[in-house]
Amino acid sequence: MTEIKTEEGKVVKVKKKPKKPPKSMPWFMPFVCDGCGDCVKACPQGGIELLGLDRKVPKAWLIAPEYCIGCAKCAEACQSSAVQMTAYVEQALERYKDRTKRPFQ
Ligand code: SF4
Ligand code: SF4
Repeated sequence: MTEIKTEEGKVVKVKKKPKKPPKSMPWFMPFVCDGCGDCVKACPQGGIELLGLDRKVPKAWLIAPEYCIGCAKCAEACQSSAVQMTAYVEQALERYKDRTKRPFQ
């Protein structure tokens, strides 16, 4: 387990980092997300977080993309279709590493 501090100051425990990026990664769509948190609970790596907890509708985001193993459990758990798996892993990694792309900037 590794501890990561989110932008909101919350400490999140994530599991072991994979040796190489997965073949697919989740693409979160904040405009569809209703903030239910099901994807957060479903992620075995602990890498998803709800951002904007002080807002009416928080949004899910992959805060630890380098820990994603591409299992798709987040996409399967999402009843709102706000998470789709994509094979464009490099673009997804860049997106999640860019803090300006996060919801509630
Ligand atoms: S694909 Fe799996 S490891 Fe990656 S964020 Fe979704 S649930 Fe977590
Ligand atoms: S399961 Fe879907 S709707 Fe719920 S927080 Fe995650 S992305 Fe948003």
